[in-house]
Amino acid sequence: MSKVYFWNLRTTRKSPHALKMKKLLKQSGLNAIIDPGNLVALKVHFGESGNTGYLNALNLRPIVDFLKKAGAKPFFTDTSTLYVGDRGESVSHGLLAARHGYDPNIVGAPVMFADGLRGEYETTIPYEGKHISEAYVGGMFMETDMMVTLNHVKGHGLAGYGGAIKNIGMGCASKRGKMHVHVSTAPHLHPEKCTGCGVCITECAAKALDIDDEGKILMAGKCSGCGRCFLSCRYGAISIDWKSDVDIFTKRLIEYNKAILDRLKRPAMHINFLMNITPDCDCHGYSDAPICPDLGVMISSDPVAVDQASLDMINSAPPLYPSRLPDGLSKGDDKFKALTPDTPDSFGLKFAEEIGLGSRNYKLVTI
Ligand code: SF4
Ligand code: SF4
Repeated sequence: MSKVYFWNLRTTRKSPHALKMKKLLKQSGLNAIIDPGNLVALKVHFGESGNTGYLNALNLRPIVDFLKKAGAKPFFTDTSTLYVGDRGESVSHGLLAARHGYDPNIVGAPVMFADGLRGEYETTIPYEGKHISEAYVGGMFMETDMMVTLNHVKGHGLAGYGGAIKNIGMGCASKRGKMHVHVSTAPHLHPEKCTGCGVCITECAAKALDIDDEGKILMAGKCSGCGRCFLSCRYGAISIDWKSDVDIFTKRLIEYNKAILDRLKRPAMHINFLMNITPDCDCHGYSDAPICPDLGVMISSDPVAVDQASLDMINSAPPLYPSRLPDGLSKGDDKFKALTPDTPDSFGLKFAEEIGLGSRNYKLVTI
């Protein structure tokens, strides 16, 4: 059974936010696993431009201060998105993070992007899973001395629920890794748009692509679904069917977690913020109304336990209206399932437990 430490957000004049957060972190034993001088990655999602549900940087300052007091050197980090936009490369992403309050002068720690300038700095981790044989991960994650994941708990259009496991599996993956998790089929080729430049052929390690007699792209071999050709084509001649099987997507995401967490220099800690619990993830350029009240902050060394505890608490909470929740829900009803009925049973946590990522059996320790 895993321990999950919990603070219900209550504060007093004598015990304000920073003190309560410090108490929570201390009780979790976080300082005991850090050595002076450690470079500690704080894995966070800075929120898409226009989103308002992302984690408030000011609320994270006590975590930075706590780690610094233990002698560590924390930094905030994330990776580039697959899609073009303010988070598609690290220059625009860094400016967006600063606009959202992630400025060293405010939060006391710099922002560094784990997958480099354009999302191509990656480490390949071999992993013998049922759904992946290797994971492509932002290179810096394997260099850090420790990782603390800071997870905004909310819904997700495809996975149904997003917490620690989502932040790790998708958020730590490089662009190639994100593609790998999403795509389970070969890309679609559009020869009419192809210029015959050949860049995608160079990128394809499986040697699955070729150019026909008319100088147009064609599928000539067995595709592994890595998606590198899609990322490399600047002419729109290669597209991806994003509606991959949700069950496979979820299992790949979970196997990425196992591959990443097993390879870190020391065990990671996971902090779930049950605040601003919106129906969609922070990749959207908006945030719809929360589906339940703010509930608290949880921390655990077990990503499965902290996600299970978060789901249980959210489902036990009263539904909030007006929101996107269907009418008539009561305390105890599965809110995320009501929003995205096609998601796999237990949002993949059963599979996560089966492959040894953690335990769904937890003890909640309230501070
Ligand atoms: S990168 Fe695009 S344009 Fe160039 S050969 Fe491949 S499909 Fe054609
Ligand atoms: S998805 Fe990967 S393996 Fe398949 S054709 Fe594109 S580059 Fe080659």
